[in-house]
Amino acid sequence: MGKKSLSRFAWLSIAAAIATIALKTSAYFYTNSVGILSDALESTINLAAALLALWMIKIAERPPDEDHEFGHHKAQYFSSAVEGLLILMASVWILFAAIDRFIRPVELESLGLGVIISLIATAINLSVGIILIRAGKQHDSIVLEADGHHLLTDVWTTFGILAALMIVLLTGWSLADPIAAIVVAFGIAFTGFRLVRRSVLGLMDTAIDAEDLVKVRKVISKFAKVGEIEFHALRTRKSGPKKFIYFHLLVPDEWTVKKGHNFSHEIEEEILSKVSDAAVFIHLEPLRDPASHEDIELFG
Ligand SMILES: [Zn+2]
Ligand SMILES: [Zn+2]
Repeated sequence: MGKKSLSRFAWLSIAAAIATIALKTSAYFYTNSVGILSDALESTINLAAALLALWMIKIAERPPDEDHEFGHHKAQYFSSAVEGLLILMASVWILFAAIDRFIRPVELESLGLGVIISLIATAINLSVGIILIRAGKQHDSIVLEADGHHLLTDVWTTFGILAALMIVLLTGWSLADPIAAIVVAFGIAFTGFRLVRRSVLGLMDTAIDAEDLVKVRKVISKFAKVGEIEFHALRTRKSGPKKFIYFHLLVPDEWTVKKGHNFSHEIEEEILSKVSDAAVFIHLEPLRDPASHEDIELFG
């Protein structure tokens, strides 16, 4: 592939998960607080998600083989879909806890070791989460973006709890706690839903971004000349970062195969120079043959 593997970011996420688990477990032994223990157990989900991300990144980066001749990029979507579902589950869990607090308000624990520990863990999750989302955007990796959002889920939860704690301490308005939790739950649910949606769309062979499609059209149009060189049946699909571009190129009937082939390569080269990570497939057709114009629809 020639590119540096993205698995190093997954390892960073694994390290962050192990650090937060260790942090919270040691705090549990120090305080005996069940709340901190359940928090530590929750962090093991981060570890599992990071391991899944690593696994799927490794598969996605495998070169094409006999069984998967277009590559393995789509493995990414399994990881991001699971991350999205985990985030959705977390939001439901927070929502139920908040409703429970409405019905049976509890005395909030005072600022203690638990808060300090969770602040340190939050700082780790925040910085690693930002690194992952940035890398995900830069390398067009939905796995890294999803894992980053997963880590930020924990950050928002902690911020929500702390903000509510502050309001309760300052104003004595105890409903601030469940209300903050509900706001956080909906924010998280939105993120989770978007990740699941993007993953499903990715698995459904969604077309490439409009921006890239415009670039492709521009290049082909530059070579086209009405009545001489035309094109139709332009179709695209995205598979992870890889963009597949297909179209029919109609050239004068009398052109030799060699001339047509050279010409199509010229167009291909120009598209590749404008659109990153693309693969171009061109079907050459004689312009005057009616049969060339009967195959515009995919299965028509
Ligand atoms: Zn060729
Ligand atoms: Zn055609």
